[in-house]
Amino acid sequence: MPTIFSKIIAKEIPSEIVFQDDRVTAFKDINPIAPVHILIVPNKEIPTVDDVTEADEAILGHMFVVAKNVARQLGIAEKGYRLIVNCKSDGGQEVFHLHMHLVGGKRLGAMLVRHE
Ligand code: 5GP
Repeated sequence: MPTIFSKIIAKEIPSEIVFQDDRVTAFKDINPIAPVHILIVPNKEIPTVDDVTEADEAILGHMFVVAKNVARQLGIAEKGYRLIVNCKSDGGQEVFHLHMHLVGGKRLGAMLVRHE
């Protein structure tokens, strides 16, 4: 099921793309939670982490290489950053086209609030 991300990948709607190749597209999040907030998205439509298969291993690994390269490109590699992948409703996923958030440019603090 195509989402808004398929249109961004196809450049049918505007976005600030920072990297693209035949497997992955990385673009600025429209509603950033930190000074640097990039979404790294496989060009192939995979809805959620729950849908990945062994056939996707290469593309998922490539997303990490792209994350590392984009972090260096944007000057946040030395101080560090956080990679986040949300899955389905309890994970807080809003767009059902698998994506990795690359977040940095400030100290991010605790990852999650403590479970009561
Ligand atoms: P999720 O909650 O699914 O892990 O993250 C979805 C992310 O996509 C959110 O951070 C949201 O700001 C971003 N987003 C949603 N629609 C658009 C859009 O049209 N363009 C861009 N650049 N980001 C979007």
